Amino acid sequence: MVFLAAATCLTGCMSHVPGEMTEKSAIRPRLRVLGTAQDGGFPHAACSCDRCELARRDPGTERLVASLALIDTDGRVFLVDATPDIRRQLDRLRDLKPGAGRVNRAPVDGVFLTHAHLGHYTGLGFLGFEAIHTKEIPIYATSRMASFLTDNGPWSQLVEFRNILPVTLTPGEPLALDEQLSVTAFRVPHRDEFTDTVGFLFAGPTRRVFYVPDTDGWQHWKIPLEEWLDRHRVNILIVDGTFFSMDELPGRDVSAIGHPLMIDTIERLQEQVAAGRLRVFFTHFNHSNPVLDADGERRRQIEARGFEVLDDGLELAL
Ligand SMILES: [Zn+2]
Ligand SMILES: [Zn+2]
Ligand SMILES: [Zn+2]
Repeated sequence: MVFLAAATCLTGCMSHVPGEMTEKSAIRPRLRVLGTAQDGGFPHAACSCDRCELARRDPGTERLVASLALIDTDGRVFLVDATPDIRRQLDRLRDLKPGAGRVNRAPVDGVFLTHAHLGHYTGLGFLGFEAIHTKEIPIYATSRMASFLTDNGPWSQLVEFRNILPVTLTPGEPLALDEQLSVTAFRVPHRDEFTDTVGFLFAGPTRRVFYVPDTDGWQHWKIPLEEWLDRHRVNILIVDGTFFSMDELPGRDVSAIGHPLMIDTIERLQEQVAAGRLRVFFTHFNHSNPVLDADGERRRQIEARGFEVLDDGLELAL
């Protein structure tokens, strides 16, 4: 008998229903949040602002770089993005992937990548020869991202040594992980210097979750976000919350920001959230974002409107 999750709940596990901890239901497909900070981390690299200093003094308030784990019906574990915090994020999966007293060369069953910016793929380096030295871990990515890894060092060495095996995803086409669970990549507008950028739709037996940690503002989407979410029957949106408002970016032009502002996302989705049709979590927080202050006014305001701050450790049943 396996009681995988019972003793290992991180904060706020939503999928743990007492009385349902049978062998089968213990591996309900779900997402586990491994990180919620923008690429620079929180506390942010080399930053001594008050908020970062406070997070250094109280490690309970720190946040790892934005990432999820996807756990499927067979208990397989997939990373969604490979961040600079991957060492600590793999530690947070050890209940699901216990080792045998030595380096586990298969700490995950695959990795889905959104794009080639610092916070989203550089953790792949740990799968290589100098560290874990994995064997043929599938890396699910668009063809442009897969080619980027294959054609450029040091990532090309991971491919050459067969530490990783790039698998091309076609945007818009679901990849079935098992009978109950699929993952679909969707292209999103973003500054695409090296690769294109995608968000992922995770469709499980009970919920459809769309994860888009990095995107340009909604005015750059061809289909309005609220319509897109309806069209794809999304129940939960986990979305780019890099900046709360222009207050964090004095002197900058809003059209040059490259992220939707949280206040704009809230305006756009208020009706769907109020009607109970959609749950919205923000993630990928820059250290300047006032919603990082747990008791702050901005946090209270968004929660009063039904929107939520995603926290490291939360689990969401699919
Ligand atoms: Zn990012
Ligand atoms: Zn800071
Ligand atoms: Zn990015």
